[in-house]
Amino acid sequence: MAEILTPIAEQILAERATTAETLLEVRDLRKVYGSGAAERAVLGNVNLLVKEGEMIAVVGPSGSGKSTFLHLLAALDTPTSGAVYFRSKALQTLEEKPLADYRNRSVGFVWQRHHLLPDFTAEENVAMPVLLHGGRSSEAVEAAAGWLGEVGLAGKGKQRAGELSGGEQQRVAIARALVNGPALLLADEPTGDLDEQNSEAVFDLMQRLHRTHRLTSILATHNRALAQRCDRILSLEHGALKLLESHPVAQNVH
Ligand code: ADP
Ligand code: MG
Repeated sequence: MAEILTPIAEQILAERATTAETLLEVRDLRKVYGSGAAERAVLGNVNLLVKEGEMIAVVGPSGSGKSTFLHLLAALDTPTSGAVYFRSKALQTLEEKPLADYRNRSVGFVWQRHHLLPDFTAEENVAMPVLLHGGRSSEAVEAAAGWLGEVGLAGKGKQRAGELSGGEQQRVAIARALVNGPALLLADEPTGDLDEQNSEAVFDLMQRLHRTHRLTSILATHNRALAQRCDRILSLEHGALKLLESHPVAQNVH
């Protein structure tokens, strides 16, 4: 365990020395499923410090806890113990309203299988988070149209989501994740269902949006070539988060 945690500890110290603000801090995070003999720690004791503007890939075999980890960061799930701090505030201490705001406004989440409403138009899908947050309908439609333009789907707003191709649906899902202006983009195998060409295009798009909108992004992926293009590659295995590679920060200058 010690040699697994040491690179992360070193990374944390190195990061503390940089000037970028810490956006996210994960401390001693544990997630255990089952009880008694069936008890299994999906996340053992995970620590991580994420600076504003970083793009991080989390790799690991299927079942290693990547989705569980991202759900905990998004406050879509609660840890068994440990804490996630966003801008120095522990998510676990937030009341219902600020917690809902965190999920809806501070974080954008992209799922592997997009989770769009197939019978609604692309524009309606993207407008939904704005309406859920109490935005006016005209404001929501305007924001949705703008975001569909940003993801390269300017002419497709009136098309039903279910009629779009896999790559287009994932672009709509990215627009929907970003429409409320989050600081943190979490993506759970966002290219997992796409062919190589679409994977590349969707990743290019995410990287471009990451830079132009000054996002902090964490994505789970099986695709090592795409992971290589992130600032850091972390691997999850046997419940431990380990630093695999760290690329020069200059690569991600905004
Ligand atoms: P990954 O995304 O890396 O494939 P997951 O986070 O989905 O991994 O799952 C990690 C492990 O936790 C798997 O073994 C999975 O079966 C288990 N798991 C996930 N959710 C639950 C749950 N609600 N109850 C019990 N076990 C779960
Ligand atoms: Mg998963």
